[in-house]
Amino acid sequence: MTDHASSLSGLRGKLISQAALAPYTWFRVGGAADLLFLPADEADLAAGLSRWAPDAPVRVLGVGSNTIVRDGGIDGLTVRLVGTYWGQIDQVSDTELFVRAGALDLSVARTAAKKGIAGLSFLSGIPGSLGGGVRTNAGCYGRELRDCLVRIDGLTRSGESVSFQGELEELGLPPVQFGYRHSDFAEDVIITGLTLRGTGRADPAVLQEEILAHQARRAETQPIREKTGGSTFANPDPPGEPGARSSWKLVEAAGCRGLRVGGAQVSEKHCNFLINTGEATAADIEALGELVRARVLEQSGVHLRWEIRRIGRLQEA
Ligand SMILES: Cc1cc2nc3c(=O)[nH]c(=O)nc-3n(C[C@H](O)[C@H](O)[C@H](O)COP(=O)(O)OP(=O)(O)OC[C@H]3O[C@@H](n4cnc5c(N)ncnc54)[C@H](O)[C@@H]3O)c2cc1C
Repeated sequence: MTDHASSLSGLRGKLISQAALAPYTWFRVGGAADLLFLPADEADLAAGLSRWAPDAPVRVLGVGSNTIVRDGGIDGLTVRLVGTYWGQIDQVSDTELFVRAGALDLSVARTAAKKGIAGLSFLSGIPGSLGGGVRTNAGCYGRELRDCLVRIDGLTRSGESVSFQGELEELGLPPVQFGYRHSDFAEDVIITGLTLRGTGRADPAVLQEEILAHQARRAETQPIREKTGGSTFANPDPPGEPGARSSWKLVEAAGCRGLRVGGAQVSEKHCNFLINTGEATAADIEALGELVRARVLEQSGVHLRWEIRRIGRLQEA
């Protein structure tokens, strides 16, 4: 790894060996990144990727609100797009924003509200970054990122620029397919920026009220003050379809509300959320998730699919 790390010397961003990642995830668990890279901008990221050995792994982490980093840490290079540059949000037209991938969903919702752009308030309910949001096609309250994406820019594993079109516009770019909490980007594409389009113009005060209403609803129904990763399992059917099955109801029916493994617990408040009660390891959380899956399978015959990403190495015994 030292040889690989030395290939990145001279970059403008920060490089940190054996960087603890737990503080950068909502669960607050997990081991260290062998090498963490916080690039200064796209050119710096592209330079780093092009110099990094093609056979050595690269991962990107957003703000870790949908990810369990395993206790053994992450091998290779872990990239995080953080800081003022990567959080930039600019208005590009009456109804459009250009957003860098490290911007928080809440900041985008607030900026859109301030600028009078309707249709982006739903983002205030999602505690992630836009890069993570595109990858997971994040959404709530009947809207998803795919509904407002015009253009997506990124870099390939070797540092080449790539652009894709969202579902809104024909730009002569390759399209991306989005599904429920899923997009089909190649795993090694790092999203660097995107153009979002709202649904029209609206009174900023009304949009601000929408945001407050979303936040109040969240606080009432979800354990948002806990160390959690959001919805653990994807709903077996997209919400809204006739007869759609929801994961929380299946978890509840299997008697798992409040179930514990080590320091991990199924939330009493919303049983599709797992929480770190204080001393959980990533292994506790993952084992609890697997126990829930087994009980749901036994009780209802449904194979729940993890919505939360699990990355990295298991802790060696
Ligand atoms: C309390 C709580 C409530 C939540 N509610 C919702 C909700 O209502 N709706 C919803 O959809 N989600 C919800 N989530 C889950 C989560 O917030 C979203 O999935 C979010 O979009 C993830 O963004 P992130 O930056 O945290 O991504 P991370 O968890 O850091 O990463 C998620 C995935 O995205 C990839 N990724 C991150 N950045 C990039 C990038 N720049 N380029 C390419 N890939 C990237 C990672 O490699 C990983 O595969 C909730 C989570 C919590 C903790």
